[in-house]
Amino acid sequence: MATLCRVRHRWKRIKCAHVLTRSLTGKFDYDLVVIGGGSGGLACSKEAAQFGQRVAVLDYVEPSAKGTKWGLGGTCVNVGCIPKKLMHQAALLGTAVKDAKKYGWQISGPVCHDWATMAEAVQNHVRSLNWGHRVQLQDKKVKYLNMKGSLVDEHTVKGLTKAGKETILTAKNIVIATGGRPKYPTNIPGAIEYGLTSDDIFWLKKSPGKTLVVGASYVALECAGFLTGIGLDTTVMIRSIALRGFDQQMAGLVTDYMEAYGTKFVRKCVPKRVEKLSSGALQVTWSDINTGSEHKDTFDSVLWAVGRAPETKALGLDKLGVKLNKETGKIVLGADESTSVPNIFAFGDIGEGRPELTPTAIKAGKLLAQRLAGHSTQLMNYDNVATTVFTPLEYGCVGLSEEEAERRHGKDGIEEREWDSRDFLTAQSLGLDA
Ligand code: FAD
Ligand code: NDP
Repeated sequence: MATLCRVRHRWKRIKCAHVLTRSLTGKFDYDLVVIGGGSGGLACSKEAAQFGQRVAVLDYVEPSAKGTKWGLGGTCVNVGCIPKKLMHQAALLGTAVKDAKKYGWQISGPVCHDWATMAEAVQNHVRSLNWGHRVQLQDKKVKYLNMKGSLVDEHTVKGLTKAGKETILTAKNIVIATGGRPKYPTNIPGAIEYGLTSDDIFWLKKSPGKTLVVGASYVALECAGFLTGIGLDTTVMIRSIALRGFDQQMAGLVTDYMEAYGTKFVRKCVPKRVEKLSSGALQVTWSDINTGSEHKDTFDSVLWAVGRAPETKALGLDKLGVKLNKETGKIVLGADESTSVPNIFAFGDIGEGRPELTPTAIKAGKLLAQRLAGHSTQLMNYDNVATTVFTPLEYGCVGLSEEEAERRHGKDGIEEREWDSRDFLTAQSLGLDA
């Protein structure tokens, strides 16, 4: 006990001395420490370094429940936009090759797809991006630390390596850009044990085979789209509506098109349990929300695409009083990306009310870096952000959905017009669009 007290005492003295030195000299190890090396964190740290700021970025990937892990660059590079878009492209090519025969291309033999070849190419491309990000950080003199970051105080971050080695970094400002991770559904036996998420699907060495995709938003429909496109038997289970928040007329076109291209849909149903049969197949039992009736089928893989949870757990935010939205767990932010604690900022997927999109994370990160370096006062404008859902029918949109416009302005307050691309061309060529 006595030893423990002495040690504690010494630690306190060291800590006090540290704080004193800092306040007397105003010196920190860095101008900016960024926790999270994804789309936003990398953009913010590189931009800050460009303005001569001393910057460090910590990035650490906790393996998925299935043990999948990856390198620097965050969700978009490793388990999001990039591998998704490449697999989507693989699917589109398959359709084009099949169509090509009708256009006179001489293609001998049946058109079939090999998952392992595609996966290897995609994974190699992602690894090259991981490497590219490391080189860019080095070139821009940003210190990269492969460590899990947590907050000690409003100027201090603790980094922890995989081997448990600790590093303390002090900074004038701290930025949190730790993004999110896929959620598993609660209380469905077998969900975690036998299920995959988007953190795993792009890193599989073997084809997922016949797949059940649970969920009906971006991730679910995009994954189901490319799985169908490369020839896999794919079913989407929707518990309510597809593409919530999007114009529902357009969402209908997306799912109709997918259905026409072979994706199966099970509507108004929720999974109950997943069991592994002796054959190795996964037996999923689900119930119909309207009738309560139970149904079963077997699949090779079950992909949960039921939303994402913010990555705040390891950060020690509660100790410092960084305010979170209790429902979503995301960090509450001001228009300037400030948190409730001075000198601590956050943005990207971790931010309450922010779009979960890469371009907005990048732009917000760059603008924040410029403001912190005193080079600009410009705030991020989150209005009217364009987005695309990369299903076989690529659906891009910007602004309000019809439903949201009606909710805000009433049915009589909006005017509906039908356009097609020729209208834009004609208007443009006649100079009428000015
Ligand atoms: P992230 O990119 O998630 O980066 C956070 C980083 O912080 C991660 O590397 C994480 O491991 C790390 N980290 C977490 N905690 C700590 C800690 N304590 N210490 C150190 N490091 C930590 N967006 C688009 O715009 N277009 C698309 O086509 C698109 N497709 C997508 C497809 C899928 C399947 C998914 C899942 C997402 C997609 N997105 C897309 C969304 C996009 O990937 C995210 O919006 C974007 O990556 C968010 O950037 P971020 O910087 O906020 O976080
Ligand atoms: P979302 O939160 O958008 O959607 C979750 C989906 O899962 C909804 O359809 C929801 O249904 C359903 N769901 C939730 N819980 C359950 C459950 N227990 N059982 C059955 N279904 C359930 O999550 P996503 O992961 O699809 O996307 C997250 C974000 O990532 C998006 O908002 C987007 O910003 C970003 N992203 C962007 C992409 C792009 O730009 N192309 C691509 C992919 C992701 P319900 O509607 O009934 O709640």
